[in-house]
Amino acid sequence: MRNSDHLGKYWKTYYERVNSAQQKLHPIQYERIEETLSMIPSGIQSILDIGCGDGSITNQIIAPLVIGMDASPDALKNVKSKKAVANINNLPFKNKSFDLVMCAEVIEHLNIDSYQQALCEIARVASKYILITVPFKEWLELSFARCISCGCIFHSSYHVRSFGFGELKNLLTQFGFECKDLRYICPILSADRTTKFEIFIRHRLAREYLTHSEFAVCPLCGYIVVQRPKRNLIGWICAIIRLMQKIFLRKAKPYWIGVLYYRKT
Ligand SMILES: [Zn+2]
Repeated sequence: MRNSDHLGKYWKTYYERVNSAQQKLHPIQYERIEETLSMIPSGIQSILDIGCGDGSITNQIIAPLVIGMDASPDALKNVKSKKAVANINNLPFKNKSFDLVMCAEVIEHLNIDSYQQALCEIARVASKYILITVPFKEWLELSFARCISCGCIFHSSYHVRSFGFGELKNLLTQFGFECKDLRYICPILSADRTTKFEIFIRHRLAREYLTHSEFAVCPLCGYIVVQRPKRNLIGWICAIIRLMQKIFLRKAKPYWIGVLYYRKT
């Protein structure tokens, strides 16, 4: 059973757990934030940061008007700028209210019901620019977790979509925006040579799912700690193959991609 699209009533639990832990960011996250900020054009007077969480980016933006927006009031407690509690599908702002609308690590979480409406809303309130960052070509299955309480299989960070170069470049064309700048963020050495067959073996026969996410909350039953099941023989063989891949088959792959769009019409 796969329930990635079903965030249920527990999504708040997940985001609050993530946001409360953001004080201790991984070094690569600092690099991501720095590179995201460097994509903001100069001379911007007003910025809306949608899905700003605890303000790890918002608090570092320098502009005359900065508003951090999130659906979670708890997350906003650490945001130092002006703030708004709102949903991305229904932004409480007039058309073209902000010079730049930022959406960093947000749209990969949007399910089929809200995705188009959210893009439409982002474009509606942006007068000049839109800045979007997402994980680059993420292989979602690699981050699947399995709840040991109810068996639900879900992405441990609640990501439900993955983006490649071409899709992102034309993401907002229908709303009159064109790509102005596109940057790969944080190239890392990765053993990303996994095949679909290996994923199948790992999930179906070895019953191995990602288990190291300390934030994983089952979207179906709310179970919080997803523990690693005892590794069987096939699991051990998969683990050795992965180790060999890490040693011999590493290649550079960006973690994230950032795209700056400008309004053409
Ligand atoms: Zn569960």
